[in-house]
Amino acid sequence: MKTLYIDTHCHLTSTEFQSDRLEVITAATSSGVEMICSAITPSEWQECLDLAAEFPNVHASVGLDPMLYQETESALSWIHMNSEKLVAVGEVGLDHYYLRDHAARELQEESFRRFIGLAAQVDLPLQVHSRSAGRRALQVLYDCDAKAVHLHAFDGKASLARTASEDHDYYFSIPTSIVRSQQKKKLAKAIHIEHLLIETDSPVLGPEKSKRNTPSNVNVALEETATILGRNPEELREIVLENTMRLYSRLRQG
Ligand SMILES: [Zn+2]
Repeated sequence: MKTLYIDTHCHLTSTEFQSDRLEVITAATSSGVEMICSAITPSEWQECLDLAAEFPNVHASVGLDPMLYQETESALSWIHMNSEKLVAVGEVGLDHYYLRDHAARELQEESFRRFIGLAAQVDLPLQVHSRSAGRRALQVLYDCDAKAVHLHAFDGKASLARTASEDHDYYFSIPTSIVRSQQKKKLAKAIHIEHLLIETDSPVLGPEKSKRNTPSNVNVALEETATILGRNPEELREIVLENTMRLYSRLRQG
């Protein structure tokens, strides 16, 4: 099957796919979807690599849930050891939604900086989580002079995303929840078109809030974005696919 879409951020190793993971991957495959699976807890890391080894259209990205910042050391060494098998580092980042305590936020930020350093060292793109911390996450990335950055489900101001995509060459993925989110619609308009990606973040951020999301839905993000931008969907699909291949250079080698 020819690749039509790349779901740049999904969680196939989530327990929500425990009972039907194979069916979920098979359904996405038959819709022409490639997947970058992001594993963010230590128990998922190896499984993510195993999926990538088993399915040619599944690619592995390994990171750490920002709330698990105390496990940074083991994550850094695991990723370093397995970096040849990854297409990206992440997701990693900041989560100010759950973390309110100032001192804890500092520790989380220190962890984020170390992952930024690791991604540069192993020469891989970085998938960034920035819940309720969009401005701060960008500032940290700029301070660290981070390159090859992918911000997923960015919930910060659209103007910040515009600057990051236009002046800093950062990429942003629009999730399937764009169909029900005014903020994501604004975001889609603000991002420089050559820095636009799509994602499902499945099992979450689906077109319907209470329903489990799957990578097969990624076309919904593309089509809604095309509508918002007043673009031909097929034309936008090709642009987004090219953008993805430009950022994720290891997909070009496979
Ligand atoms: Zn995610």
